[in-house]
Formats: sequence, C-alpha cells, structure tokens
Amino acid sequence: MKKVVPLQNLITQFERLPGIGHKSAQRLAFHVLSMSDAEVEQFTSAVTEAHSKIHRCEKCCDLTDDILCPICDDPARDSSMICVVENSRDVMAFERTHEYNGVYHVLHGVISPLNGIGPEDLTVKELIARLSDTAVKEVIMATDPTAEGEATAVFLARLLKPLGVEVSRLAYGVPVGADLEYADEFTLLKAIEGRKKL
Ligand code: ZN
Repeated sequence: MKKVVPLQNLITQFERLPGIGHKSAQRLAFHVLSMSDAEVEQFTSAVTEAHSKIHRCEKCCDLTDDILCPICDDPARDSSMICVVENSRDVMAFERTHEYNGVYHVLHGVISPLNGIGPEDLTVKELIARLSDTAVKEVIMATDPTAEGEATAVFLARLLKPLGVEVSRLAYGVPVGADLEYADEFTLLKAIEGRKKL
C-alpha cells in the first residue's frame, strides 16, 4: 500500500515525543489535519518560540526567557536558602506548596554512572559558584528519593559542606523510589519541613 508521506512524517514526529505510542501519535496527527490554518500557525509558532526563547537562568539554571527566572528575580525570595532539584518540573511542584520561600538550583539530571552521566554533565559547577556568595546559609538536597537521587545528594553534600554551608536532605514523607513532581503539596511540604542535616 502506498503511504501518504507527509502524514507518515507527522505521525513519526509525534511518536518521538515521550509517553506517546503509535495509536496516540496517529490520533494527534489526524487532529492536526482537522485544525484550521490559524490554529496550526498558533501551534507551530508556540513550539518555535518556546524553543528559541527559553534558556537557562543565569543563577539557578531553571528555564526562563529572561536573564534571570522570575524566582531569582524576586527580591522577596530568601536567597540564603537554595533547594537543589533535578528538573524544572520539581520547581513547579515545590512552588505549588506556596510555602517554600527560598530559591532553587536545577541540576538538569542526576549522577548516573550506568547512563554515563557524571557531575560535569549537571549544573554542579554553577551551584558551587553560587556558594561563593556568603549570604547562602543552607542548601537543601531535594533530588528524588531514588538510588541515583540519593547518591547525587550524598555526592553534593560532601562537596558543599567544606564550603561552610549547612546541607540538609528532604525528610521522607516522600515515598522511596518516587518522582517528586508527582508528590502532592502536603507531602512535599512535610518533606521540606522535616529535612535533616546531611
Ligand atoms: Zn533562576
């Protein structure tokens, strides 16, 4: 059977997205075909604009379209406390608690020797650079409670403690092996309140 190449290409592009199987990719592709020209234009320009304008915040390495992200740029946030997370989705999860008033540092991953990811692939250098600011008093390790998240927290704690900051780890209201971004607000709040010194 002869294939409609542009349709196949579109399905293939959707299939490359995380969590999208062949059936869903087909459904999305057919949905695009049913969209008006204006809707397609809005959709494609949102993709292009997000991709070209969003980059890492100069301070915390979270994603932003400005030099600093809105959190680093907010003078009301307590910059003496840095919460170290794996990714931007974790920042969003903590922000949903509306209780944490410190700032963040986004590692963009965890140390994972099996996947060939070492500290140099994460934003560890940037984190250490932030600690030269003596205003920083505490660093909270809020990596996921997985084996790799734990190992990363311990590695960073050893690296940071000699620099004279207090290093703490989230308490386990968070289920072991879980993804922080899926924890509910109350669990995250308890975890951050009950953090322990590392
Ligand atoms: Zn920032």
